[in-house]
Amino acid sequence: MNFSDNGKLAAELAQLASSAKLLLMLDFDGTISPIVARPQDAQLDQDLGKILEKLSALPNTEVWIVSGRSLADLKEKVPFTNLIGSHGLECPFLNEKEIDNDDILQLKNKLEKFLKDFKGVQLEEKKYSISVHYRHVAAQDEEKIKEIVERLSGNFVITAGKKVWELRQPGRNKGDVCLALLQHTGCTASIYVGDDVTDEDAFQALQNKSMTIKIGDGTTAANYRLPNIESLRFILKKLLDQRYINNGQVEE
Ligand SMILES: [Mg+2]
Repeated sequence: MNFSDNGKLAAELAQLASSAKLLLMLDFDGTISPIVARPQDAQLDQDLGKILEKLSALPNTEVWIVSGRSLADLKEKVPFTNLIGSHGLECPFLNEKEIDNDDILQLKNKLEKFLKDFKGVQLEEKKYSISVHYRHVAAQDEEKIKEIVERLSGNFVITAGKKVWELRQPGRNKGDVCLALLQHTGCTASIYVGDDVTDEDAFQALQNKSMTIKIGDGTTAANYRLPNIESLRFILKKLLDQRYINNGQVEE
């Protein structure tokens, strides 16, 4: 797919660029930061970061990052904009969910105990969830690890991402928090961009409400698809230029 020829996407984007109040919602990993071998090494794409910073500096334009990472982690990676962590459980304008941290600790202990003999498994503890990374695991072990994760998960919600199983506390997902964001910001138009399974909650919740863009391959409920981060950079730069020019004419 040649994204620069994607006429429908370009036309809708041009329309969004002149909306009275524009909201941009973006996932972090795999969307504005390239996927890396170790999740702790992930970095914001520098050029995208600059574009997003400029967009968020425009009047009547808000940029929010909606990630599965904890808020504290996300703050280290994206220092300049509005952040929502833990798939919506950590949101500055919604009450923090009452979570029993003993549950997380107990789950972590069990996972450590039952997965300790599998080489390459990496557990990542977050505030409201635990990620089991298996990018470096032997292929024949993947299924066995999956069975253990499923058996131990209890009432945690399991989501399969890119070489990761995520077990998170039930209660809120990216779809719920994005709908709350539309209300909170009072936007007249919005865009959501994501690349992975947990973004599908947002794509579905935002149907007929928001422009939704999936980065990369795979089944999706999003309206549009872009092949990679470079193509996202291209269209957001275009949006920035158009909104910058339109800005004098933006209706209140
Ligand atoms: Mg992602």
